Amino acid sequence: MLVIPVFVPHAGCPNNCCFCNQKVISGNLREPDMGEVAAEIEKYRKAAERYQHVQIAFFGGSFTAIPAERQEMYLETASGFLRRNGGFVDEFRLSTRPDAIDGEVIKRLKKYGASFVELGAQSMDDRVLEKSGRGHRAEATEEASRLLKEAGFVLGLQTMTGLPGADDESDLATARRIAAIGPDFVRIYPTVVVRQTQLFRDYEEGRYVPATTEEAVRLCSKLCEIYAAAGIRVVRMGLQATGTITRNGEGSEIAAGPYHEAFGQLVRSYDALETVSDRLREIAENKGNIRLGYLTLEVPPGHVSDMIGQRRTNIEALQEGFGFSKVRIVTGGSGSAEAESPKEALNGAFENRLARAVKENTCERTLYRKPGGSPDEIKVLNVTIGVEFRDEPED
Ligand code: SF4
Repeated sequence: MLVIPVFVPHAGCPNNCCFCNQKVISGNLREPDMGEVAAEIEKYRKAAERYQHVQIAFFGGSFTAIPAERQEMYLETASGFLRRNGGFVDEFRLSTRPDAIDGEVIKRLKKYGASFVELGAQSMDDRVLEKSGRGHRAEATEEASRLLKEAGFVLGLQTMTGLPGADDESDLATARRIAAIGPDFVRIYPTVVVRQTQLFRDYEEGRYVPATTEEAVRLCSKLCEIYAAAGIRVVRMGLQATGTITRNGEGSEIAAGPYHEAFGQLVRSYDALETVSDRLREIAENKGNIRLGYLTLEVPPGHVSDMIGQRRTNIEALQEGFGFSKVRIVTGGSGSAEAESPKEALNGAFENRLARAVKENTCERTLYRKPGGSPDEIKVLNVTIGVEFRDEPED
């Protein structure tokens, strides 16, 4: 899919979200006029020929909170590029605040053919919303979502973890309440400390302590479970890298917090390791006079890098955590030629209760759910475990 970005600065935003530096940024940005927006979109006409699906995305966060005339101007411009109006764009999407949605706004969005709205819910805990300076309550998200769903929009909800006043419990409760709304997808952004914000000042003065990356990964893994159980896709975790949003780069807007360029992959790798480790722990606890030798994991192609982990961290964790001499990750589903057959290894000791437990596990198909995946994306992870036998213990 080709996404054509159009940034809509919200210079006059009356809110004071503690994590946001849009006022500082927007104050330095000129609002593009109709001709400039059209020219920007037009630049993509040639490239669009290579894509089956083309989307205009209005970025900026508060589209329906900007003055109505400007909304009309942008919507009319985007509408002119829709295929049904002779253009080359399939749809356009915008994001906004929950309290900036009402019947009038919905009528306007419908009139111009918008089909895709994302709401910045951030938290469903009123105390957290207040401490973060959001200026709206959780019910606003529920009400706006209801209106948008009734009007037939594709609904996305953006949430944040680790905001001031939040803890794991409140973030999990937020996910449950968001799941109950039933959006089409969610995005999860662990809170990072951006310079030139209230949160940055609080951080500098010791009033706010951001989560570590490890804590944020663990929490997001649990949130993904909640959304997956509700059949809701998690389409993004973590801020997207841009010129100024980088980990340590000079001039980075990020001062502290759980930022990582591939945060979503960190969560998926963590899930993969946990899934496999849980299975292995059961075996390790019962291994008696056998020693786990090698491990071959057959992983669906799309999950190989998740299973390996960044810089092979999962491989090392499995080797160190369980004492495997070798860990291989292979694609496919029906065994690895390289691996010694676990059946052979176990043949002579079939009656051994502990060995049988291992054998049963080798035959087991372990469900490995891709975080955020809809039910039909459930993958099967085959685990092949080789065992070696220790000498009989001496009396
Ligand atoms: S995040 Fe908050 S302060 Fe920033 S533009 Fe949106 S509403 Fe305004």
